[in-house]
Amino acid sequence: MTVSINVAGNSELSVCINLEGEEPWTISGHCPSGLETRAKEWVRLGVQRVFQRAYQLTPSPWGTLTGVRPTKLVHSLYDDGNSWPEIKETLQTLYGLNPEKAELLVHVAQGQRAFFHPNPNDPIGVYVGIPFCPTRCSYCSFAAYPLGTHGHLLKGFLAALHSELKGIGALIRELGLKVESVYLGGGTPTTLVGSDLGDLLDLIRHEIFTQETIEYTVEAGRPETLSLESLQILKDAGVQRISINPQTMHDQTLQAIGREHTVADVHRAFSQARQVGIPIINMDIILGLPGEELGHVEHTLREISRLGPDNLTVHSLSLKRASRLKNSRSEVSIAHAQGEAMVHMARDVAFSLGMTPYYLYRQRHILGGLENIGYARPNQSSIYNVQMMEERQTIIALGGGGITKFVAPDLTLFRHANPKCPAGYSQQIKESLTEKVAQLRQHLTA
Ligand code: SF4
Repeated sequence: MTVSINVAGNSELSVCINLEGEEPWTISGHCPSGLETRAKEWVRLGVQRVFQRAYQLTPSPWGTLTGVRPTKLVHSLYDDGNSWPEIKETLQTLYGLNPEKAELLVHVAQGQRAFFHPNPNDPIGVYVGIPFCPTRCSYCSFAAYPLGTHGHLLKGFLAALHSELKGIGALIRELGLKVESVYLGGGTPTTLVGSDLGDLLDLIRHEIFTQETIEYTVEAGRPETLSLESLQILKDAGVQRISINPQTMHDQTLQAIGREHTVADVHRAFSQARQVGIPIINMDIILGLPGEELGHVEHTLREISRLGPDNLTVHSLSLKRASRLKNSRSEVSIAHAQGEAMVHMARDVAFSLGMTPYYLYRQRHILGGLENIGYARPNQSSIYNVQMMEERQTIIALGGGGITKFVAPDLTLFRHANPKCPAGYSQQIKESLTEKVAQLRQHLTA
């Protein structure tokens, strides 16, 4: 294959991709600026088109976009002065997206603009990671340590986390920071029970909340960790949003992926959460789990529809490097051909529940090259999810595996990572906190 790039008169660009035995693919146009970037984009598109034609490959619905956060491209095109229809056109002609994905991206990005603030450090968000779970799911790549093997580290971890909360709380007050949203994730924070959970939630409110805090979320993903008592603790602490994640409504699949809870647990936890009055409940599902076909997904969605959550997050299975499932590609291959149909089925159910897509991301090795989509009913989108995904707000992360993202006014990023393992976190908290506070102080007062 040969690739020819020509520039005439400083701004007339042409690209030609030639594969032996095939018609050459050519494109040309006027590029007053960004010649190098445009040349790379055309080469990528041309190479993809030529190979699709030569080997009768099915075009990827996402064209040449391979990044985790495709909405960031849409936002930067909008910031450059393009209109929404122009962006939709560019996504199709320059990046090769199919019309449905271009429409989806633009719809999501349009809705997200309302969440953006002129200054990425005013207000900020806060994340707190609890790296414990009842068991480890086979597809998991997060900081999640089973209580059975790592429970002895919990006490030391909580003591370290309390000291980190106090340190960051002091900095928030010293610098007069405004905190918009607080998200307790992990892991599964509701593996904590009784006073461990209540004290932590209260300490977060006391140290981290400011007058501007309008969202408090707890990831309660594993339904077997929830009881009327723990849900009441969440409610009393002012938690407004939780996630109860079935992933599938099939007991056999739940066992196969190492979740060790049942569909009945999902129903019980959901009705208890409604009973105590948690305002917003999200449910996560995963499309393409081992052994699951369209019929399984249809059943899962029917059950979820009956429960009627306020948010629905639809993941397409991704075989991540740190997961046990990565070695079982053959077990999950059934779903690949049906991925798009599963995505459509989930979308239709979300629409029927009055939801629309509000955030979106992709992963490597994801089912059918598809995407993960968060749906929400009107005015029930998670602020934190949007800010975390779009990286237009500084988010201070505490706890195990928390990755603080400092966002500069020009939207460049730099990160600070806490140790993932609870033992390492407890041992290194003093140095890690000192380093992070110094970095934050420098970033936020620059
Ligand atoms: S519940 Fe979530 S964090 Fe915990 S093991 Fe499963 S996927 Fe990982």
